[in-house]
Amino acid sequence: MIRAAARSGPARPVGSPDPSQENPWHTLAACRRDEAGLFFAPSKEPTAARLAREEHAKQVCGGCPVLLACREHALAQPEPYGVWGGLTAAERRVVLARRRRRAAEPALVPVQRDRGRIAG
Ligand code: SF4
Repeated sequence: MIRAAARSGPARPVGSPDPSQENPWHTLAACRRDEAGLFFAPSKEPTAARLAREEHAKQVCGGCPVLLACREHALAQPEPYGVWGGLTAAERRVVLARRRRRAAEPALVPVQRDRGRIAG
């Protein structure tokens, strides 16, 4: 999301110029002008309101041309708050945990293959 993207290249107010221009995907973000405040929770937001807000934000993300770039940015930082690339912070934590598990798996694959050869 563009406002938060301003933090890590972009932690700047909406509409202000990006001094770095290192992440041009920001310029195509569908949430550039998030007047509704969909992407970050206000303080003390009730659960039902949060879920509804996040679903609405995800709908915006669904039509965003830079969804994947935004998502990878948020995963790489990692961004701890807000909806980025169609994922909430909790969903990003799940993705990152899966990636860490997958990264650890290649060490197990040769062992499994060897077992298969012995048994077969
Ligand atoms: S994917 Fe969603 S959060 Fe990311 S730039 Fe697009 S609209 Fe904003």
